[in-house]
Amino acid sequence: MSIYTKIYDILPKLLSKRSKISPKSTTFIYDDEIWFDDYFTLKHIDKTTIAIGEPRYWQRNYSYLIIGDTQALLFDSGIGIQDISAVVQALTDLPIIHMISHYHYDHIGNIDKFKTIYLSQNQLLLQQNVLDNTIYPSLKSTLRILEGQPSKQIKFSKVLENQQFINLGNRQLQSLYSPGHHSESISLYDPQRRQLFVGDFLMKGTLYIKFLPLSDYSEFKWATFNLLNNTQSGTTIYTAHPFELAHELNNPYYTGGITFADHLELSYKDLIDINMFINQHPSSNSMSKKMVINDHLNIVF
Ligand SMILES: [Zn+2]
Repeated sequence: MSIYTKIYDILPKLLSKRSKISPKSTTFIYDDEIWFDDYFTLKHIDKTTIAIGEPRYWQRNYSYLIIGDTQALLFDSGIGIQDISAVVQALTDLPIIHMISHYHYDHIGNIDKFKTIYLSQNQLLLQQNVLDNTIYPSLKSTLRILEGQPSKQIKFSKVLENQQFINLGNRQLQSLYSPGHHSESISLYDPQRRQLFVGDFLMKGTLYIKFLPLSDYSEFKWATFNLLNNTQSGTTIYTAHPFELAHELNNPYYTGGITFADHLELSYKDLIDINMFINQHPSSNSMSKKMVINDHLNIVF
């Protein structure tokens, strides 16, 4: 039995027992986050950079709307239980480019709601049936079977190389390959505002660079260098999940006091700490281990 068969066999059974959506009345959100409607939340990082949250969904995904003068870009589109395009349209009239950090089902859920989709070259290498710029990402890429999400067709209009810039009008975003959690991952960097959006490449708490198909420690090492080489000191890193920390909000006695940044933001210093850790631990042997990187980052590799 292959490792994938095992994951596909066991995980759906475990996950199906979990209630995926909590009632709004018992869902706590961050002090600096507001409800948009009954399902989505908004956190304004600045006037034209907005994190769109799904706190009622158990993985508490965040997608990022990055607005320029002539175009806006939505990075990830959530689980797809609710239509995120309605939120985006309420926030901007500009044409939308949609990009995804990686193909996992909780990041591509609304990809079919957007007309202009850019992919990165490393998001096409493992995909087949590329016909008329259309793909159906593989099960191994999406893991959609874990929560029974439907297969999504992706019709893309542009393919970006590593380090290629997208001009949103007075705002440049650089696409950077960032494999590790998932070999088809990218990050987006705004050099002027020093904002780096990383999807699941990094998260606060424990980084699992093992177990999932397409996760790989040597690729993670390469990506860490790629991000460090293209970003500057003072950069803030925006992640997509507060996984391990979410228990603080999921406590019925929670009375507030936690901000979005407490759970979702990392710093350039964290990237340097990870890089130093990798230099000291160049390879992962067959036994997985959990080690401390700094006071808010651990790694399983
Ligand atoms: Zn995710």
